[in-house]
Amino acid sequence: MRILIVEDDAAIVSFLIKGLKAEGYATIHASDGRSAGQLLSSNNEEFDLVLLDLGLPGTSGEDVLRALRQRDASLPVIVLTARAETADKVRGLELGANDYVTKPFSFAELLARIRAALRTSNQSVSTELVVGDLRLDLLTKIAWRAGRRIDLAPREWALLELFMRHPTHLLSRARILSEVWEYEFDPGNNVVDVYVSYLRKKINLTGLEPLIQTVRGVGYRLVAP
Ligand code: CA
Repeated sequence: MRILIVEDDAAIVSFLIKGLKAEGYATIHASDGRSAGQLLSSNNEEFDLVLLDLGLPGTSGEDVLRALRQRDASLPVIVLTARAETADKVRGLELGANDYVTKPFSFAELLARIRAALRTSNQSVSTELVVGDLRLDLLTKIAWRAGRRIDLAPREWALLELFMRHPTHLLSRARILSEVWEYEFDPGNNVVDVYVSYLRKKINLTGLEPLIQTVRGVGYRLVAP
């Protein structure tokens, strides 16, 4: 799960990133409305939820939300507002926010709201992922290819899950590093390439089509046969 945090208060940002990371969420941060708008309209970025401060420098949170809702009606948005006035809350909800929390808020309260918003948006959430003849059982953490069981180490599992959640998408090394290793920088080694090659060895069973394509200089893509 990947959460976009749009907030200009550095103390709140670091509190949120720390807390969310501990709960297993990947986070991306934008400190103003303009960069938030760019991330939200980028074809190379996908988010499961947005935490949106309304009082931002430059482009306001309201404008970010309005623009987002013109493109995407379903991405869950929780507004973080310092404004306790009912009118502001109502306006946020009218603009398409799913929920709001008023600052100061406790992390536990925010987390409960995040979980509720994600639950509502994933009502058809399934306990398995299927792409072609690959299947991941998310409860037992067992992978299968064409009916044969594949044993994966935890990072290999996380990598395959990422690919299977985004079949046919080009996943950059930076994105893979961020989601599987939670690195927001390139450590300068070839850990992604190494793990992709481990994963390929395990899922490219003899006689079956290779599923992970290399896109030279950029990253990798899972093809759906
Ligand atoms: Ca603010």
